[in-house]
Amino acid sequence: MTDHDATTFSYLCIGCPLGCRLEVDEDDHGDIIEIRGSGCRKGDRYAKQEHADPRRNVTTTVAISGGLWPRLPVKTSSEIPKDQVLAACEALRQVRVQAPVKMGDVVVDDLLGTGCSVVATRHMPAIT
Ligand code: SF4
Repeated sequence: MTDHDATTFSYLCIGCPLGCRLEVDEDDHGDIIEIRGSGCRKGDRYAKQEHADPRRNVTTTVAISGGLWPRLPVKTSSEIPKDQVLAACEALRQVRVQAPVKMGDVVVDDLLGTGCSVVATRHMPAIT
């Protein structure tokens, strides 16, 4: 295969602070033919995942009523498709929960049909 037949995509590995710059060559059929730049095997796995199906965790806050603080820190229980992160943040802006909440409580189930839950990342007692 010649260079002419390959398309190169660039990614930054976030697996560790070294931040290796990864290059993925893809052929005309969309198949990966080479990965360059990985400092370890984790980088190869990351490049394949990022190229085929990029995903991210979402960490944010939602409104809470009757709690010690007005916002409750939350996160997704697993990564969701990267192209749904913005919609997920928008959806979570509409959410309001009621105190008390325990760390790990599910705040939203099946976020945007991803099958992923959103859970509280701290306790929030009710004000009395
Ligand atoms: S490829 Fe390996 S060494 Fe390089 S940033 Fe990723 S995890 Fe770190």
